Amino acid sequence: MRLSWLRSARAEDRFETWITQHHQARVLAGETTPVGPCPDESFLRDLARKSRRIKLADPRVDHAATCPTCMHQLLGFRQKIRLRRRRFEVAGLVAACLVIAAIIAVAHYGMQRQSPPENMAVVVRTVNLWDAGTYRGEQPGQLQSVWLPATRVRLEIILPRFSPPGQYLVAVTRDQSGNGVMAEGSATALASGNKETVAVDLDLQEAKTGQYFLSTTHEQDQASYYYPLQIK
Ligand SMILES: [Zn+2]
Repeated sequence: MRLSWLRSARAEDRFETWITQHHQARVLAGETTPVGPCPDESFLRDLARKSRRIKLADPRVDHAATCPTCMHQLLGFRQKIRLRRRRFEVAGLVAACLVIAAIIAVAHYGMQRQSPPENMAVVVRTVNLWDAGTYRGEQPGQLQSVWLPATRVRLEIILPRFSPPGQYLVAVTRDQSGNGVMAEGSATALASGNKETVAVDLDLQEAKTGQYFLSTTHEQDQASYYYPLQIK
């Protein structure tokens, strides 16, 4: 029922288009006799735009429909209007795509920012300070090269021999006075056998490659020890 109605509507459309084209061809070939003088361009423009200002009873409509000159102009205007409309549609589509892309980008960025650190790629590093002497200015530590990557690091430190248990603050600093803290974290040392280890998360993503110091500070005695560190 519905389909047959659609089909007949389409057939009607085709028939109407055929009549219009047939009529246009006759007019353009000069086979019709227009009545009255040619209307001005603005009227033809309005007519092409199917403006509401145009009254079908207006004799100029009849003229334009039978005059080859006016018909020619009308068809030209129609084509321009159609072209402009299509350009608008394309521009609208492009704008819509850009808005969608922006929304996706913002959502993606937001999700990245919101995701908890444990979901981020974290590099696990262990630094063994068991045999390390502390670095106190004049005597460079006996520490072999300790280096960390410039990223999020889960750092496990095996504390030097005889380190007391308790809470430790671990920091990466620019100098050995504790200035220029790049990253820090605190945790309670865990005893494994006779060794104390402390594990902290350090965000070194902003750190530039170069020489730094790794410091451990015991919460109770507030004594800080500095070890040379390289960030690569
Ligand atoms: Zn005319």
